[in-house]
Amino acid sequence: MAIALVTGASRGIGKATAILLAQSGYKVVVNYQRNKQAADEVISTIHAAGGEAIAIKADIADELQVMAMFVEIDNAFGPVTALVNNAGILFQQSTIEELTAERINCVLATNVTGYFLCCREAVKRMAIRYGGNGGAIVNVSSAASRLGAPGEYVDYAASKGAVDTLTTGLSVEVAAQGIRVNGVRPGFIYTEIHASGGEAGRVDRVKDLLPMKRGGQPEEVAQAIVWLLSDKASYVTGSFLDLAGGK
Ligand code: NAP
Repeated sequence: MAIALVTGASRGIGKATAILLAQSGYKVVVNYQRNKQAADEVISTIHAAGGEAIAIKADIADELQVMAMFVEIDNAFGPVTALVNNAGILFQQSTIEELTAERINCVLATNVTGYFLCCREAVKRMAIRYGGNGGAIVNVSSAASRLGAPGEYVDYAASKGAVDTLTTGLSVEVAAQGIRVNGVRPGFIYTEIHASGGEAGRVDRVKDLLPMKRGGQPEEVAQAIVWLLSDKASYVTGSFLDLAGGK
């Protein structure tokens, strides 16, 4: 049975991915940090369509909470076979003069350390050397890892550069263990993350500058993630799919 953990699945890209995975037959774990009501609504949506899902509150930047979450999944569904490292944060748009160590470390703790911790716990359960049957991991990076997000959030962009390097290195490290590791790099997707940067309407501001002249929908990113996790992508590892309207 396919069992998927989607971090940060109470809204946005994670929510769309969790719903699509459930439609595709996965038992789904909807991880969230704060918004229990939103996570419960995702669970209700999945249940109403006949799918199986549970919600687990855990801060992915906290090692003990991540470890406890994986044990809870073991007990509820069995060991994960698919991981979507999706939960990510950014803060108010600014230039480098405004970046404090506290802010930078906070971004890195969630966007980088959190991804590492979830990969570690997933590999312990998926790897053939631990008695697992293999699995697949998709790390949600960003077009910002290529573009750098100048004047907006270079700290966030740098965290996504680290995610890309994690994806490349881990894909080789665990390839012989039956685990595929790939990345998606969304660009300008209509979600609430842009409000965290102080510009809720950011996608509409930049959309005319994109080759495709429009922003993307969370469901379009979810399709790529679910394909990369699936057996249809069985020979794909260490790859990146850009979902940025041609940018
Ligand atoms: P979003 O709408 O802001 O949703 C973020 C989700 O992450 C929420 O479910 C939130 O849960 C959860 N979360 C935040 N910090 C967490 C933590 N420490 N532990 C566990 N969960 C946490 O974001 P999104 O736009 O869907 O982005 C999803 C991913 O795509 C991120 O990695 C982001 O960097 C990437 N991305 C997005 C875009 C875009 O244009 N939207 C572009 C490129 C890349 P609570 O609500 O419970 O706090």
